[in-house]
Amino acid sequence: MSASSHDHPELGPPQLAEVADGVFAYIQPDGSWYINNTGFVVGRSSVISVDACATERRTRAYLDRIASVSKAPVTMLINTHHHGDHTNGNSLFGTATIIAQENCRAEMIALGMPGNTGIWEPVDWGEVTLAPPTLTFADRVRLWSDDRPLEVSYVGQAAHTSNDSLVWLPEQQVLFCGDLLFNGGTPFLLMGSVRGAIDVLANVVAPIPARVIVPGHGAPCDPGQIGTVTGYLEFVLATARKGISAGLSPLDLARQTDLGDYDGWLDRERIVGNLHRAYADLGAAGGVNVVGALTDMVAFNGGTPLSCYA
Ligand SMILES: [Zn+2]
Repeated sequence: MSASSHDHPELGPPQLAEVADGVFAYIQPDGSWYINNTGFVVGRSSVISVDACATERRTRAYLDRIASVSKAPVTMLINTHHHGDHTNGNSLFGTATIIAQENCRAEMIALGMPGNTGIWEPVDWGEVTLAPPTLTFADRVRLWSDDRPLEVSYVGQAAHTSNDSLVWLPEQQVLFCGDLLFNGGTPFLLMGSVRGAIDVLANVVAPIPARVIVPGHGAPCDPGQIGTVTGYLEFVLATARKGISAGLSPLDLARQTDLGDYDGWLDRERIVGNLHRAYADLGAAGGVNVVGALTDMVAFNGGTPLSCYA
């Protein structure tokens, strides 16, 4: 496979948005599988980054973009959660301190670096190596960019994953919320909890007086997106309840489900993984087999690997 097969110029280049003075969101179109958002805060002599990218190529392009704004080194890198699109590029941040909730470190080490498993279209990951967090916290930690605080806090329970953390700049009213919110893409709860995510969005995220929210995927948004995503999660739970009563497997249920307004969201096959997780949340026997759920997503996708433009 040639490297150019991963260029996907039709997606358009990443966009840099200065969402507050010295606070940048780096938005990678189109926000589908493994194409995440990052961001950074520029101080006088150092830069703090929120997340890395999925591949060497994408992470190097991001670092170049930071360097076009500030010649200062990135001294701290926050991981909002352990998923590879947000952490695979960690090793390219040199001596930066890598900061995350303690479960993030454990999950990254357990998962290891990605290969090409047949679940997704093959990806050229490049030269990236496992670089777990070097500073972990249980609940929260406050970082400083000169005199501006960044409040990094664990959401307190499983939601998108077991280790989701928010990055909140109270003075700028900017919230980086990782994959607790998607904008234009289907939320993905397989490694977390549908119920937990609903609770976290209502009781942890919504009370934050954010002016701008940078979601994990898709364009920056306002707090209205919390309701949009919660609507989808409630739909998943309600669908799962019907499927459990009808004795359907998550895959068969997904095949019978009209996604309605959600059908146009990117990566619609996530409904299958989300139903697997919702079944477990609702107490269905057997728990969640992640590999089995991913395999069901491929089946839902007509047996072909899930599209991946990373
Ligand atoms: Zn994620």
